[in-house]
Amino acid sequence: MADVAPEDGGSAVKKDDGGLPVGPQPGVSYPISVHYCKECSLPVEYCDYGPHPEKCRKWLETNLPELVETLATSDTPEAGEGDEKKHQKRGGKGSKPAATKKAPTKAPANVTLQRAPRGKNKSVTVIKGLGAFDIDLKVAAKFFASRFACGSSVTGADEIVIQGDVKDDLFDVIPEKWPVVDEDAIEDLGDQKR
Ligand SMILES: [Zn+2]
Repeated sequence: MADVAPEDGGSAVKKDDGGLPVGPQPGVSYPISVHYCKECSLPVEYCDYGPHPEKCRKWLETNLPELVETLATSDTPEAGEGDEKKHQKRGGKGSKPAATKKAPTKAPANVTLQRAPRGKNKSVTVIKGLGAFDIDLKVAAKFFASRFACGSSVTGADEIVIQGDVKDDLFDVIPEKWPVVDEDAIEDLGDQKR
């Protein structure tokens, strides 16, 4: 009771603005140079948040091996932050649709056009793959029917048959109607032999 705890005196270290250090720090060489990663063009500290951290790490290992060690050891500066990073890595692959869509590594979905004989002198046009572009096949079949003034119907899981030889027109008509389908994504399978 009579004793006053000396704690107050011990914790009286002054802290300004959340304790950010001011001035040159021991063990740091100045000026501080920022290394930019050639893979993702981010400062190397941010590679983990880039589109492909694995590639970045390889690039680092070849070009800035001493930095890899620095990053590896400073990977988990605080427990909380470390956890957050792990979560981001896990969710990262699925949650970057913009980056993955532009990457040419994945083969894009294709629409295929094929002319098939029907009767003696007539042909039909078979369109496959529109469904892969999230296009409603029934709506598409109706659109083709009115566009070409001929029969058109959904004939399979991802197949539409147009009663007429309109294959050449479709290369223009499809991208015009559905810009999501690039003209380059339309493949001409030619004539179906019977
Ligand atoms: Zn990088």
